[in-house]
Amino acid sequence: MRVITTIKEMQELILQQKSQGKTVGFVPTMGFLHEGHLTLLNRARQENDIVVLSIFVNPLQFGPKEDYAEYPRDFERDRALAESEMVDFLFYPSVEEMYPTDLSVRVTVQERTDVLCGSSRPGHFDGVATVITKFFNIIMPTRAYFGKKDAQQVAVIEGLISDFNIPVNLVAVDIVRENDGLAKSSRNVNLLPNERKEAPVLYQSLQVAAGAIDEGERDPNKLIHLIREEIGKESSGVIDYVQIYSYPQLKPLEKLEGTIIIALAVKFTKVRLIDNFITKID
Ligand code: AMP
Repeated sequence: MRVITTIKEMQELILQQKSQGKTVGFVPTMGFLHEGHLTLLNRARQENDIVVLSIFVNPLQFGPKEDYAEYPRDFERDRALAESEMVDFLFYPSVEEMYPTDLSVRVTVQERTDVLCGSSRPGHFDGVATVITKFFNIIMPTRAYFGKKDAQQVAVIEGLISDFNIPVNLVAVDIVRENDGLAKSSRNVNLLPNERKEAPVLYQSLQVAAGAIDEGERDPNKLIHLIREEIGKESSGVIDYVQIYSYPQLKPLEKLEGTIIIALAVKFTKVRLIDNFITKID
């Protein structure tokens, strides 16, 4: 595995590989790797000749009051994990390398961001879309792997790829969970011990809603109420949102039909957690 820190070297190496007809699988991350990330890497390894992992905590996607400084980082641990997943190139640029000057052009996302994390984190998806556009131009991947844990991100990147005609295939990978159901996240280490015990309620509340859907419930408001009640019973966290939309369009629904997402975000003392459930209603 080679660790690459400059854009120029990364582009040269990729062009070399592509000139030999190699396919490139790309997994963008902010590091502090866990099994969720490793699942994406594993899938990329199976489906491509070359695997590129990027580790970059992108300041552009954090709001001024968000956890950019506290975001966990451990490069040496990540490097060893990447090596064991047989990554070929670990792209690890500095902020100065990615943003040497103020950008004269930024990607602004117009659709799918007025709800969920887009409304609680203004500018977040513009930052994500901008950095991913840069990465796509640097890595030129055949396939790019994203987790459904960040389902709104998947919806936004799908729009970016389609609207800008970017020649990359997006692969969306299922959420990887702890044994107690908590979605794996780099941020979980910033939960206080009692909060870590309560946090599986996020998933449990989604399961309660899934059960109600199975029993025929089709009213989004009733489901939202059920989820809020469930979280309130078990957790000291403050609900940021519980919302239900069509997926991936993220439009409101009066009655559940088609593919839908139930998504939620809960704020704990030092960390805000998200989770979701996507299902198709016949
Ligand atoms: P992050 O480092 O948090 O930006 O995540 C990098 C990629 O890993 C994103 O595409 C995430 O959606 C994905 N990811 C993070 N956690 C999980 C998880 N628990 N299951 C599946 N994918 C995940």
